[in-house]
Amino acid sequence: MSSQHCDRCNKVINPGDLFYRLTIKVFADFDGIINVKDTKMDLNKEFEKVKSYPEELVEEEVYKEFDFILCPRCKEIYCANPLHLPLNNVEMRDNAS
Ligand SMILES: [Zn+2]
Repeated sequence: MSSQHCDRCNKVINPGDLFYRLTIKVFADFDGIINVKDTKMDLNKEFEKVKSYPEELVEEEVYKEFDFILCPRCKEIYCANPLHLPLNNVEMRDNAS
């Protein structure tokens, strides 16, 4: 059994060690409302454009999944600010070990 590494800090995760699996799913959502302001957009033309994209690329536009392994420390850091939002008066402690 090969040892795993934290995808964030590259720390070795030994067999039996606690680690976390982070799965991020990003997918397109649509509320069903077509903005009237956008009617100048030719929907058929847009559709043709999308059809001409390579299939993989279109799929990435609609759905993307990330799968990471995190050590407990990186899990804490990630959970503290999953979207990397700017934090006011909070110092980001990033242990680049
Ligand atoms: Zn880590």
